[in-house]
Amino acid sequence: MVYDVIIIGSGPAGLTAGIYCARFGLTSVILAGTKWGGQLMLTTEVANFPGFGTVMGPDLMKKMRDHVESLGVKVIDVAVKELSFPRRRESSVSVIKEDGSVPVKTGIRSGMTEYEGPFVVKTEQGDFEGKSVIVATGADTRWLGVPNEGKLRGHGLSSCAPCDAFFFKGKPVAVVGGGDSAMEETQVIAKVSPDVVLIHRKDEFRAQKASQDMVTKLPNVRYLYNTQVIDVLGDSALTGLHLYTDPISPKQGVKTLDELVAKFGGTLRQAQGEWELPRAGLFVAIGLVPNTQIFKGLDIDSHGYVKRVEERDENGVLKYFTKTNIAGVFTAGDVHDARYKQAVTAAGFGCMAAIDVERWLGEQ
Ligand code: NAP
Repeated sequence: MVYDVIIIGSGPAGLTAGIYCARFGLTSVILAGTKWGGQLMLTTEVANFPGFGTVMGPDLMKKMRDHVESLGVKVIDVAVKELSFPRRRESSVSVIKEDGSVPVKTGIRSGMTEYEGPFVVKTEQGDFEGKSVIVATGADTRWLGVPNEGKLRGHGLSSCAPCDAFFFKGKPVAVVGGGDSAMEETQVIAKVSPDVVLIHRKDEFRAQKASQDMVTKLPNVRYLYNTQVIDVLGDSALTGLHLYTDPISPKQGVKTLDELVAKFGGTLRQAQGEWELPRAGLFVAIGLVPNTQIFKGLDIDSHGYVKRVEERDENGVLKYFTKTNIAGVFTAGDVHDARYKQAVTAAGFGCMAAIDVERWLGEQ
């Protein structure tokens, strides 16, 4: 069958889009990925999703999935391999022939799209066809990109304290990052590790004050400011970190690198500012990379996020917020949002994309 809309992604954006599409009476399918649910499946407590007080991330996602499935929308746990775009163009964009004349398309109003067949989404469970697509594939962990990272991932190097904390009971660990994720990871791992060092490349954290305050209260957390992780050390398991600290922050309570290294029980290296800190684990919490690699032809910005193309009517009133450069392809959630990145904003974008799709399909 040809669906009215294929939704790619099953985080708050994709599932909310599915709920709205169902309410609009559009036929839709959600291609959820092999690990459905997105970033919230890796989160512990969510305390800012309206109406829920405090809820565990996976429980919130389960409720969203149950909700959309109860409306008859199929959620299929399969990864998308490719999205092929039929050749389409907005009729308002005239194509000028070589002789300078403009071909006239009959039956197509300005703003309508020439329909040249459905979108085809290829997956391991076969192809899915849709008149429109909502790209809501979210974003994944950003890794440090240091030389030994590949070797030690899963052997002391992790991006998910709620998943891996168990392995670090009683052991000294570090967390790298300065945002809310780093604060969250620190709180989780500090429940099992007696000695957590939070490493940030700047002198100030960017996390919300409330989450910084939660970490400040913890007696077993120490801080390293103006410090970069140059590499992770160890052969079969992580044993330490190769760090670079410069300048020494006044917040460290020491003046020289020697003093800092001694305070943290590390060893100096020869190169200026470099030293080693013994650790059994490192949790990387330095942000996210949007999942856009499979979408050839979709306009992506220099950071990898899908570019939205806002459209206004002749009076300047916003008509479409979630359109992309490809007519019929809309976007929602963290895959296009480098700024807000909240569960509730992702859900909001999912709702907006569904409203845009419904209007767009009506116009075709
Ligand atoms: P983020 O806010 O983008 O912060 C990333 C942090 O990592 C920044 O401090 C950044 O340093 C640092 N960083 C980036 N690249 C680095 C590198 N190569 N080496 C070392 N440090 C690096 O990412 P996030 O913490 O994952 O949060 C993402 C979004 O989700 C945010 O909007 C956040 O508010 C939200 N969030 C909310 C909650 C909650 O409300 N419960 C929980 C988690 C996340 P600089 O500061 O120097 O740029």
